[in-house]
Amino acid sequence: MQTNHHEVVVVGAGPIGSATARHLAEQGVDVAVIGPEEPASPEGHAGTWAGYYDEGRLCHVLEVPLMTSMLTMRSLRRFDALRTRTGIGFTTPTHSVTVLPENLGPGSAATWFDRRVLAANARDLGVVVHELDEEGLRAAYPDLRVEPGHVALVQPDAYILNPRALVRAQLAAARQDGAHVVRDEVNTTETRGGRVRLTGRTGATWTADQVVLATGAATNMTGLLARPLALSAFGATVVLAEVEDPGSLDMPTMMMLKYRDGARLYGGIVMAPRPYPDGRWYLKLAGTSLLDTPLETAEQTAAWVRSGGNRADIPEAAAVLRDLLPHHEFTTFRTRPCLVASTPGDRPYIDRVDEHTVLAVEAERGAMSADEIGRLAAMLARGPWTDTIPHEVFQAEWAEPV
Ligand SMILES: Cc1cc2nc3c(=O)[nH]c(=O)nc-3n(C[C@H](O)[C@H](O)[C@H](O)COP(=O)(O)OP(=O)(O)OC[C@H]3O[C@@H](n4cnc5c(N)ncnc54)[C@H](O)[C@@H]3O)c2cc1C
Repeated sequence: MQTNHHEVVVVGAGPIGSATARHLAEQGVDVAVIGPEEPASPEGHAGTWAGYYDEGRLCHVLEVPLMTSMLTMRSLRRFDALRTRTGIGFTTPTHSVTVLPENLGPGSAATWFDRRVLAANARDLGVVVHELDEEGLRAAYPDLRVEPGHVALVQPDAYILNPRALVRAQLAAARQDGAHVVRDEVNTTETRGGRVRLTGRTGATWTADQVVLATGAATNMTGLLARPLALSAFGATVVLAEVEDPGSLDMPTMMMLKYRDGARLYGGIVMAPRPYPDGRWYLKLAGTSLLDTPLETAEQTAAWVRSGGNRADIPEAAAVLRDLLPHHEFTTFRTRPCLVASTPGDRPYIDRVDEHTVLAVEAERGAMSADEIGRLAAMLARGPWTDTIPHEVFQAEWAEPV
């Protein structure tokens, strides 16, 4: 037997690919997961990038697509076992607070921030959420100042998930069960004689009975699919505001929609401060240009990464923080480039592409739900869909008909 043949090769070692490899290895499958390590810096970058190169992702059930919350709940239940097994911690408790205008008119924001649906979804999953009016919000979080007429939904037992640490834990567990972790990028796949032959950027080759593509927002740019998915990729900006004395800032993590005089001023996540690898603490905001930079090719993506993110997002983020936390001063801001994707129905694709290829892609909430998406993708790579959630829910949509 060739040493570079595996029952399954997972392409992409981000949150979903590493989870898929871990579940396969746990089931005794001979699996290799191929993906590059995080580059040291965006400067001078060439090659692919990821959505998970950061220290914090919100992990909660306050999401409008019930399926996102359901996949997250299933993932969450296995976090303790993964942590215990690997000794790698990747969650920090936080309150998740969704702040929104009490009366939100129609429009796209109303879909993502539908208070009634958010609360009902949480209830359906048995998760306690509190509804707070303006006064209740001020009493619960005295440091925060939200716009008049805004209210909140609170999930007190949410987490900030460190996606880099999650990936480390998944890969460590996968390795414990015999998975091979290969640092390369897959350039081509070719099916011959009932096997898939994969060639890496380094010239290395592998063969596999089954391939799982877990290449995130970059999936349509990899050239590994015969036709494009209905999946749009964007160059998103993360704004990091340095916090010199994190002990002095007691705040929850927020999904914040802010309106003034009927105009939308901000919509995005404001994350409680976390320590970063440079030894400093940063409070993180999603930049307002989140969906302004569509990316279609690997070259466009690499150029976006080299830009370091959109610095025009900094003044807007600073204004949001000035209003939200008026007793704290933020003077140092940085940007980081990030990749984000969207699918037409805001749901993941976990589907079979052909006899030898399975796809596992999540758009905007793929850190919190990655472990369960990986489990389902592993199931599909090994045989038929047997989960109680109907498979139709996760069927891929294509940008072009066959
Ligand atoms: C600003 C921002 C905020 C977000 N907030 C949240 C949040 O609060 N909660 C949440 O759950 N999610 C959030 N997300 C989304 C989340 O980060 C992504 O959904 C998640 O990272 C997707 O994981 P993935 O494994 O599918 O893709 P990625 O994280 O992109 O990983 C894919 C991997 O595949 C590799 N790859 C690509 N092409 C190849 C190839 N040809 N060969 C080998 N490897 C390849 C890449 O290098 C990468 O390592 C946010 C994203 C952004 C950008």
